[in-house]
Amino acid sequence: MDGLAVTACERCPDLVESRSQIVNGVGPADAELIFLGEAPGKNEDEEGEPFVGRSGSILDDALRDAGLDRADVRITNCVRCRPPENRDPTTEELGNCRGYLAAELAAIDPELIVTLGKVPSEHLLDRSVAVTKEAGDVADVRLGGEPFRALVSVHPAATLYDGSQRETFFETIARAAEIAGIGASDGGQSSLGDF
Ligand code: URA
Repeated sequence: MDGLAVTACERCPDLVESRSQIVNGVGPADAELIFLGEAPGKNEDEEGEPFVGRSGSILDDALRDAGLDRADVRITNCVRCRPPENRDPTTEELGNCRGYLAAELAAIDPELIVTLGKVPSEHLLDRSVAVTKEAGDVADVRLGGEPFRALVSVHPAATLYDGSQRETFFETIARAAEIAGIGASDGGQSSLGDF
């Protein structure tokens, strides 16, 4: 690891095979808000940046609605290499990458970590999580011995298959901005109402 970036790693044989590059987190090294995804997909693997595909544009839209810009926040993943055929990362792969995530979170020391979807939520909360039901809930978590605050969110891609999840997602991101004390003071689009 070189600062916040992993420059070489061969711990996961399947991922070494399927990746074209290691996808590190992006955004300010002193960000108050970190968005945590599962693992890079095809677009992220090609571009070397988290959340640049369809999920990324939904995240960008929700950030904008909350009065934030992508450049204001940090975005990273639990696992830094693309799994084959976009399968979920295995428990072993999550474990192999956990130390890198712990080091990144410790260095950035954010006000809040937003866990985008089931895999990152369960990885941080260390229990099974019903993301649709628990979206918007805040939990105290520990990683690498350090305490953090996490906000559970549905994955942005969930909004593509289920319209009702769109409102849940946008409201959660607005709440994240509010908790972190950044972005629009009204917490986002007034049309979404109170959350
Ligand atoms: N989904 C994720 O979980 N992470 C990404 O980087 C892109 C899509």
